[in-house]
Amino acid sequence: MRIAILSRKRSLYSTRRLVEAGEARGHRVDVIDTLRCYMNVASHRPEIHYRGEVVQGIDAVIPRIGASITFYGTAVLRQFEMMGVFPVNESVAITRARDKLCSMQLLSRQGIGLPVTGFAHSPDDIDDLIKMVGGAPLVIKLLEGTQGIGVVLAETKQAAESVIQAFLGLRVNILVQEFIREAGGADIRCLVIGGKVVAAMRRQAREGEFRSNLHRGGSANLIKITPEERSTAVRAAQVMGLNVAGVDILRSNHGPVVVEVNSSPGLEGIESATGKDIAGMIIEFIEKNARPNHTRTRGRG
Ligand code: ADP
Repeated sequence: MRIAILSRKRSLYSTRRLVEAGEARGHRVDVIDTLRCYMNVASHRPEIHYRGEVVQGIDAVIPRIGASITFYGTAVLRQFEMMGVFPVNESVAITRARDKLCSMQLLSRQGIGLPVTGFAHSPDDIDDLIKMVGGAPLVIKLLEGTQGIGVVLAETKQAAESVIQAFLGLRVNILVQEFIREAGGADIRCLVIGGKVVAAMRRQAREGEFRSNLHRGGSANLIKITPEERSTAVRAAQVMGLNVAGVDILRSNHGPVVVEVNSSPGLEGIESATGKDIAGMIIEFIEKNARPNHTRTRGRG
């Protein structure tokens, strides 16, 4: 098969591993820089141009679209879908997953455990908003944040009020969330491929930090997850419509709660923590599922 990876750089660990795994299984794998793709969106025969040439003959595309280029990246991916190329994750699902608020609303509707979370616009409602999520300590999150940046722990009501006021004053959207103290600075990353949890790791925040992101200095190790955590992760990926997803779960007193569903999960942490060939499993998923025009949505929202 011919597989294209949409990625900014072929030297990135996940991209490199996917190339390796695809070639090892006898496929031709091209890395295409997402931001160098351009297209005539009004043409009857949808095409993508890349460095002066028309992209042709691709059977499947693996989107590795960074958060900072979601808009352009999903437009390029949608164009591949219009051409009938099989996407590992569909553009609609990626767009949905990148919107934390929308994701939570969809997950909640399907009864998936979430931390109690509030969203408000007016500074006049801060007092009630804090009460609604159970008071301090609480976590305040920028809607556009990733890798733990823009996630703040407010220990007291006063701290919460002033941080929320500051963010609202700057006109940025924030979520206000119950702090899951009992998680002890750890979360569980479940890697879901094709409706199954294929690997899981526990990430522990470094001393004095509550965010367990590896980018924030957290460390990862193997963990055995419970059947409830397994089904939560599988259902969360399914609700988002993602074939490949990294589902982050906290162990709370009220059961597993999902904090994030990632549509381009990094492979380095999970492959080194578990010793598993996750890249190979993604290629295997493509082998089993890639057929022309085999998308649920073809870009329809
Ligand atoms: P990002 O998308 O920036 O990674 P997350 O919402 O995943 O933001 O939060 C980053 C980390 O902070 C999580 O992996 C988790 O360790 C910690 N965290 C997030 N929300 C909570 C919460 N409500 N209670 C306790 N810890 C949290």
